[in-house]
Amino acid sequence: MSETENSKGKVVIMSGPSGVGKSTICKEVVKRFDNLYLSISVTTRPKSKAEVDGQDYWFISEQEFQERIDKNLLLEHAEVFGHLYGTPRDKVEEAIEAGKNIILEIDVQGAKQTLPIFPDAVMIFVLPPTEKDLVKRMDNRGREAADAAEKRLSGASGEIAAAWQYYKHMIINEDLQQAVDECVQIIEDSGGES
Ligand code: 5GP
Repeated sequence: MSETENSKGKVVIMSGPSGVGKSTICKEVVKRFDNLYLSISVTTRPKSKAEVDGQDYWFISEQEFQERIDKNLLLEHAEVFGHLYGTPRDKVEEAIEAGKNIILEIDVQGAKQTLPIFPDAVMIFVLPPTEKDLVKRMDNRGREAADAAEKRLSGASGEIAAAWQYYKHMIINEDLQQAVDECVQIIEDSGGES
């Protein structure tokens, strides 16, 4: 992705239903660019065994999260399936000022808050090939109890409906490599090179 007129970086917003494979896509897309970085969110969600603090998320308490809200340290924040998630403002602003491009992997509520701040953000929504496929992926992930997984699944249809309104780009994650290629293409077309 190239720099804008004033050498500022760009924001890429990547959303999609839980379990659709956004994180994997984002990690692969970042590898294809020299100047694209992943924003690391803060969350009150418990860390799973496979996750690393400071790498997948910054795992913090509700009190710490509230303090960040009170001090206006979050660019956006939302409650998703009973847990709080937010994007640290300083990291994103510093990156953009330094001409770096940054991906925010956030939900639709967060995207709605971010868009007025970065109106030229590249908006990508990732869809599962079928609803059945999403169910299968949730089962395979095995990170949470069945009731929590069900909550995530039932939230998916509402999120997909809202997405048509806000996201310019919709991609289907049927084949990981193809989904990554499509994202790279979208990002390149919105102003840059890998
Ligand atoms: P998970 O618990 O599966 O990692 O994430 C649950 C949902 O929270 C996903 O839809 C993910 O995109 C969203 N999410 C992760 N980080 C943030 C964030 O910083 N802000 C918002 N608004 N949503 C987030």
